[in-house]
Formats: sequence, C-alpha cells, structure tokens
Amino acid sequence: MIPFLYQCTTCGKLYQRDEVRYLCPDCAKHYRPGIPLVGVLLAQFDYVAIRRRLKKGNPDWSLFSAVEEQHYPPYPFGHTPFFPVAALGKALGFENVWLKNDGLNPSASLKDRASFLVVAEANRLKEPSIVTASTGNAASALAAVCAAAGKQAIIFVPESAPRAKLVQMLLYGARVIPVRGTYDDAFRLSLEYTARKGGLNRNTAYHPLTIEGKKTVGLEIYQQNGFKVPDVILVPVGDGVIISAVFKAFCDLKAAGLINRLPRLVCVQAERSAAIHHYIRSGKYQDAKRPDTIADSISVSVPSNAHLARKAVLESRGFSLTVSDQEILRGQKTLADKTGVFAEPAAAATVAALKKLRRSELLGRKEQIVLLITGHGLKDVEAAMKSIRIPRSIEPTIDAL
Ligand SMILES: *Cc1c(COP(=O)(O)O)cnc(C)c1O
Ligand SMILES: [Zn+2]
Repeated sequence: MIPFLYQCTTCGKLYQRDEVRYLCPDCAKHYRPGIPLVGVLLAQFDYVAIRRRLKKGNPDWSLFSAVEEQHYPPYPFGHTPFFPVAALGKALGFENVWLKNDGLNPSASLKDRASFLVVAEANRLKEPSIVTASTGNAASALAAVCAAAGKQAIIFVPESAPRAKLVQMLLYGARVIPVRGTYDDAFRLSLEYTARKGGLNRNTAYHPLTIEGKKTVGLEIYQQNGFKVPDVILVPVGDGVIISAVFKAFCDLKAAGLINRLPRLVCVQAERSAAIHHYIRSGKYQDAKRPDTIADSISVSVPSNAHLARKAVLESRGFSLTVSDQEILRGQKTLADKTGVFAEPAAAATVAALKKLRRSELLGRKEQIVLLITGHGLKDVEAAMKSIRIPRSIEPTIDAL
C-alpha cells in the first residue's frame, strides 16, 4: 500500500490516517445534523510513489487502496460488466452508449464497494460492529459484507424501504431498526447512536472510506475501456457520494500520470429530490422539501455530500438535470427492452436522462457515453409492476390461447 493523508475538503488541512476518523475535527464544529456534511475528508496518496511503481497497461490497483489487502473481508465484489449497448443508443439517438452494470454486485448494488472498504477498515481497527443509516442499498451491502467478515451490522432504515432490501438485511443477519421517518431522520439517529454507544459509523461520506470504496467503479471503467477515458458518465445522484467517488477515481488517475483529462460527469436527480441539482445550477444550497420519488435510493432531503458533488460536476465540466418518476419508469422499461438489463428505478434514471438529452446540445451524437447502472431491478419489483401487466392465465389447452 502507498501511504496517504486525509485532506479536509472544506479547509484543506491534512491529517495522518489515524489522527481522524470521520469529519475534519476543526470543520465538524460547524456541522449539525440537518445540513450537508462539512469537513468531509478525502484520501490523498503519495502520487509520486504511485507513479514510480505503476506499470502502464497492467496497473496494480491496490496502490490506490486506502486499506491494506491483509484486512480485506472474503467478499468478492466489483469487476462488473462494462459493454456497449448499440440498440439502446440507437433508440435514444446516440451512437456510442455503454453500460457499467453494477447491479451485478453480490448484494445487487454499487454500495458493496463502499461497504467492503469500511469493513476492511473495521478489521484493521479491530472494531466488531458497524453502524449505518441507509435508504436500503447501503444497508443491505453492509449486512452482506459484515456476514462475510463475521461482524455485526447495525442498521437504521426508513420503514418505507423496499421489502427486498429489508429481506436482504435480515437474512444476512443484521440488526435492523426501521425508523418511523425519512432517510434523513435515520441518518441523524445513527450518528447519535455511534456517538453514545460506539461502533464504526459507515454513513455515506461521513466515513471517508465510503468515497474511496466507491471510487473503484471509476478505476474499473477506465481499465475495461482499454485504459481510455470515456467522454461522459451519467450518474444517478442522491447523497452525491457515487458521483464524487467517480470524480476522485479519475483525479487519482490523473495525479498518477495515467490520464490527462477527466470524463464529463452528469448528475441525474429525481425531480422531487433535487437539492444537488439546484445547488449546481444556482450556487445556493437548499434542502429538497419533502423528497418524494419512486427512485427510493436517490430520495434525500439533505444530501450529505452536496458540496463535493457540485464540485465534481463543475470541475469535470459536466452538468446536471432532473427526471420525473414517469420518465424513470419509462427509462427502466426501455433499458430492459433494449439491453436485457433490469435496473432499479434510481439506476434507470440515467436512461431517462439520456432520453431527455436526445435533442440537446449538451452531448454529441458520437461521444462515448457511459450509463452507471447502480442497482438491480429485483431490489424493487413493486416499482417495475407499474409498467407491465401480468397476463390472465388460461386453461392448459392450445385452444384457450
Ligand atoms: C445509493 C444509490 C445511488 C446514489 O448514490 P449517492 O452516493 O447517494 O449519490 C444511486 N443508485 C443506487 C441504486 C443507489 O443505491
Ligand atoms: Zn476542515
């Protein structure tokens, strides 16, 4: 492993790895639950050392990992398919569209990447229990990795989380506490829990290694694309950690001298859960009042990583847009029809967004466009039921057809 420091994204201060755990101690004085996190930490590696040890064409990704391999839990994840989808591209008016299908992770969402690294860190710290608040996927991923690692997951979820996600957590043996309230209520409660009762808190962006873990999806895209940078990546955005992590991946690659440009990152949010979208557009942050979308994984009032997400979009020269629930459901159907990939609504929001961009000047017809499919459709069958009708049954005779 290459040594790294944590750098505060608010004040810039540097810390040794074991000097801090969650937020920058100076900036955290200005944080209270109910606002986006301040003092979020990013791992800054010794890029000169990485450069010296890197082999082009066969890079050793462990050089970019913030936890030593000896602490990794036995939970293979990632290395998900990355492939072109010509028929989908054609239907939407673009020539070079690709999918990164992260719904094919073991717990069926991209969240395995973050949970894996935080559990590895818990191994290093000899911490037996890990706590999180989640809209559903972060929790089912944490429960799965904890099961593999022999650790206790303690999980706060809104009681409205899709059933399949709850079933996963319980089956993996987590302690699940459904909260009568929103994801934002669960977030606050989980912080209070770890402050009083201990355990390692895995809340997204609050634990800096959630960003480092999710970063691996960006490194994989680069490698699977033949060590080339795609032009554009569309990312569904809730708390804004995945999009910041994809940005971090390409910033790391650039700092290590492997690439010289960044992909444009497109932030896709649900119309009625669009705090980051409005923040990017106006420069003024405001909570999403009463977020309400079928895409439960991106339903959030106060996105924890709003500041970094905005930076990721602006510095990559990307942009942001919103899609309605109806557009999301149509996108989910189009994706399934044209590619055979069944994505949960949050992930399908990227397809809905590309559809909307068909006649815009923001994307070129021939550009390489990647849709980040963050979660599997079987996570929320109820949502998909809205776009299909189950045929009536018949007597088992050919005449009854
Ligand atoms: C968590 C999640 C997102 C959003 O990620 P953020 O880091 O919260 O922006 C999108 N899609 C799926 C399926 C997710 O589980
Ligand atoms: Zn700070």
